[in-house]
Order: sequence, then structure tokens, then C-alpha cells
Amino acid sequence: MEQSVVSIEQWLEQHLLQLNLVQDMNQPDGFSRLGFSSEGWEAHDGFIKIAERLGLTVRRDQAGNVIARWNPENHNASLQAVTLGSHLDTVKGGGGYDGVAGILCALAAIKELRDNGFQPDHPIEVICFASEESSRFPISTIGSKAMSGIIKLKELEKVKDEAGYTIKQVVESRGLNWDMIRYAEREENEIKSFVELHIEQGLRIENAGTDFGIATAVACPIRLKIKIEGKMGHTGTTPMGMRQDALVAAAPLITFISEKAEQFSKENPYPIVATASTLTIKPNAMNVIPGIVELGVDIRSVDDALKEQFKALVKEKCSSIEKEKNVNINIEVLVHNASIQLDEDLSIKLKEIGESLGHRCLVMESGAGHDVMNMSKKWPSSLVFIKCRDGLSHHPEEYAALEDLRLGVDILVGYLQQEARN
Ligand SMILES: [Zn+2]
Repeated sequence: MEQSVVSIEQWLEQHLLQLNLVQDMNQPDGFSRLGFSSEGWEAHDGFIKIAERLGLTVRRDQAGNVIARWNPENHNASLQAVTLGSHLDTVKGGGGYDGVAGILCALAAIKELRDNGFQPDHPIEVICFASEESSRFPISTIGSKAMSGIIKLKELEKVKDEAGYTIKQVVESRGLNWDMIRYAEREENEIKSFVELHIEQGLRIENAGTDFGIATAVACPIRLKIKIEGKMGHTGTTPMGMRQDALVAAAPLITFISEKAEQFSKENPYPIVATASTLTIKPNAMNVIPGIVELGVDIRSVDDALKEQFKALVKEKCSSIEKEKNVNINIEVLVHNASIQLDEDLSIKLKEIGESLGHRCLVMESGAGHDVMNMSKKWPSSLVFIKCRDGLSHHPEEYAALEDLRLGVDILVGYLQQEARN
């Protein structure tokens, strides 16, 4: 009874707190629910409770994904599930909307449909994926990789977290069996389509004067480890002209990466972003000239050829720095993933639903990876973005306005009304 009295906005506010395990969204230290942690599992329990209250049937699969399903009354078993989903794990000290927005809006959409007596022909599912973020283990979207059958268990099992636990140990500490994860893979004919709603984590929707976004592609990274070897020496006694300072060699490279990416983005139809995002200096001592510097570089664009071209330019720049600064530079390619195209028909459908509700849509690409990129390898998939304040994400002050969450719910409701009918 209580549920039919509250407005959808009130419902969203209450359940946003519940999924985040807090009484108040103002959390100066942010939210920390690492993948496969007890906090992460507690959030999943919150999800299960809400889903069960909505009358959904809930199960946890072999990879730790939680699947909440609405089985139609007269279910024709040949009809595939229409699925929505995202994640509830966070980075350390992250925000309360990344991932949560998608789960919350999907559940709210189901509440709306149920309250209005909607009868689906197809089953509808909300999937809460396990361990989406790569902040505990250097691998992202573990749950959706398992569901779409692209997880490489043998390669992964020895990967460790900061505390020294392997991913296998951590997964098994949650009562799962590492070797059973492969059975989380689902058949192609089980699922009709997948839609993820997510906060944008950027400002493009707002800057374009629009209300929501539909991503047509996900930019996947090329990641480089660039090792610069110079020579250590005493900072007091080595004359300036006789140095092989690895950090001095890294400086123009870092600037080059940033400036070139900016230039490329202006000159090409699709933007490219490139970031020198990690740096280690050896020996990192006040009185020693840096002998070795390791630089991690992350390059992303949905235009794979542009990424390639950029990588080649970085290589060229390294060769010229080697000569100029008298150092050795070695480039290792850590990650080289082709970008992912999402389903065009599905994207158009979602765009039109949003527009028919009076909202302006930006057709865009996603600079960040999401569970949808794995699901899209097997099922028609699309990604809806809602705005978040100042484009801020992975930060305690991450925030999405209630009206934008509401907009997300409305789009998902419109979508399910079409897609879940035969
Ligand atoms: Zn996310």
C-alpha cells in the first residue's frame, strides 16, 4: 500500500539512499563499495530487497551478478527477456550515482509499469552486474564479461588486489566458485536486448543544450607503458650538461600527448582523448637525478584509426626525445581494444522515445567503458546517458538531479512498453 502513495520522485530519493547504504547522500568521504567487497554485497542485498518488494524473482548467478526478473503472467517461453542493468560497485571514495542511477531508474521504471497495470509479453529483467569498476583489480566489467561469455578465467585468476588477495580468493570468499563462473554465460536466445542507463560523467549533453544522450559507440583504450631510462647521478655534483635525466625527458612527452590530442580533436570528426595518467620515478629521492621514469598513457577514441595514428606519433616523439635527451625509451602496449559500436536501431528507438516525451537528445559516443560494451558483443544493446552536475564523477560530490533521474525513468518506461510487448 505504502508504495502507491509515494510519488516517483520520493521513491527515487528513498531508494537512492537504500542502494547507497546511507541515510544522507552528502558523504564527504564518498562511497566505497569495491567489487566483491562486503559493502558491495550489502548493496546487492539492498537491490534484492527492493526488487522482491516490486514482485520480481531474484537470483544470483555464478559470477555474482544479481538478476531480478518480471515473469509475465502467461509467459510464452519462446519470448526472450528485455533487459536493463548497470552496477552498484564503486571506486574508492566515489560517487553515489555512477552505476546506481542505472539500477535505480530501471527498478523505478518497473514500479511505474506495475502501478499502471502494464502486462508485458516478454520477461523483463534488471541486471545488477558484479565488479564493474577496475579500482580493486586492474580489470573492469567482470560480471558482464562473464554473462556474455568473454571472460578469460585462466588469465585472470592470479591477478591481485592491493591487499595481496587474488581475484579468485576474493570471489570465493563471497561464496562463489571460480571455476563455475563460466556457467554465468547466457545463451543468445535468452535475451532480446540490453539497455544501460548511466550518468554521463562529462558535460557534452549540457554543452550541446540537450537533455539526455544516446551513445552509438564506446571508445575503448589503447594503453601504453613508456619506460624512459636515463642515468642516476648526484644532484649536487653532476653538471647540467652531463645529465641523462629521465624525468626531464618525460616532461616534453607529457606535454606533447596532451597538446596533440587537443589538436587532433579539433581536426577530426571524432574526438580523441589522451592522458599521461601514471608516473613512477626511480629512485624518487631528493638528491638523485631521476634514472628511470615509467609513464602510463591512456588513449581513447571511437575512431580506431585515429588512435593508431596517435600511437604512431607518440612513438615518433619518443624517438626524437631519445636523441635530444640522451635516454632510452621503450614502449609497451598494455591494452589495445577496438572500439565498440552499439545497436543502431535500438539507439534510434531510445532517441525517439525521449524526444516524443519532449526532451532534446544528443547522439554521442561514450568515452568511458561500461557493462553495455560486453553485452553488445552478444545482444542488441544501447546506452542512455543522463546529465550529472559539472560532469563530475568518481568523486564524493558526483550528483544527478532528481529531474534527470526522472527523465531516465520515463525513457525506460517508454522503452519497456514498446519492447516488452509482442
Ligand atoms: Zn559506472
